[in-house]
Amino acid sequence: MNSPQRKLSPDQAHRLTLEAEPWLSCDDCFDQIDFFAERVVSGGFIGMPALRAHLIGCSACGEEARSLVQLLAADDGVDPAPSLRRLSDG
Ligand SMILES: [Zn+2]
Repeated sequence: MNSPQRKLSPDQAHRLTLEAEPWLSCDDCFDQIDFFAERVVSGGFIGMPALRAHLIGCSACGEEARSLVQLLAADDGVDPAPSLRRLSDG
């Protein structure tokens, strides 16, 4: 992908970009997970597709996200169930 000589069609280039994006390390995930959980509980736009992909694929971080969402919801005095659904549904 770094080779300037290699010619990619726009479609191939687009696919490569998509494939390069989804996986974060668990460390990257932990850097962003507080912010992510706040967005989930706030009910606004979440975005952060790479982090979400990581949470779906990594059970440890997925569990951490659920715990955080439950904690934040408890702090706000709201039902965590809708936020927990947003974790998986978007
Ligand atoms: Zn992880």
